[in-house]
Amino acid sequence: MRAFRYILAFLMVTVVACGGDRTGDRVAGPASPDTPVSPATPTSLGQTFESDIQLAKKLTEDYWTQTFSASGLTYRPITDFVPYQGQNGPDCGGQPSVPNNAFYCPAGHFIAYDESWMRGLYDQMGDGSVYVIIPHEFGHAVQAQLNSGFNLNVERELQADCYAGGTLGALVKGGTLQAEPGDEDELLINLAAAGDPTDDWLRPDAHGTAAQRQEVFVKGYNGGTAAC
Ligand SMILES: [Zn+2]
Repeated sequence: MRAFRYILAFLMVTVVACGGDRTGDRVAGPASPDTPVSPATPTSLGQTFESDIQLAKKLTEDYWTQTFSASGLTYRPITDFVPYQGQNGPDCGGQPSVPNNAFYCPAGHFIAYDESWMRGLYDQMGDGSVYVIIPHEFGHAVQAQLNSGFNLNVERELQADCYAGGTLGALVKGGTLQAEPGDEDELLINLAAAGDPTDDWLRPDAHGTAAQRQEVFVKGYNGGTAAC
């Protein structure tokens, strides 16, 4: 589909949960050895953090545009995609953004991310972090457009994880992104929860266990976002 292909750094995949407690969901451990998600190593194409961020946004919105269209719906692109540094992020519904986070703001239909934090993850874990965090946040934008209702915040977060997996899976299956086979034992999903500074009804300590989050991510990856 494009002049170049990407290989995801699935050796370590970061899934961001919005809503608070960063330590509650932080996990560093191997996924189940039978997980079908294949790890890979980054390409040597010399891609930069900035270009990966923008490409992750574009590919994710392309995916959802096509997916909405296939259902007779019209995807509404986010209004803004805002990098910030630490404390200087945009407000969302009157609440300030917080450092070390990425979030979707329903009030403004935009996504914002702490650029330094994201760059740190990128440098430590490779581009896979970007290609999971950004689709996760777009998952929340999709939930807003579909008026998805949830009784618990954990349901919202787990579906966003599933959407992220489904988006990545579709991009890999479509050839836009490429993952290498093998080395399943090395697959590591590092769930780093970061606080969403948004709605009061969000339960900040409820994102799902590491096992649940890995499970739904893989479920989306293999079954597509329709399975979420
Ligand atoms: Zn989230």
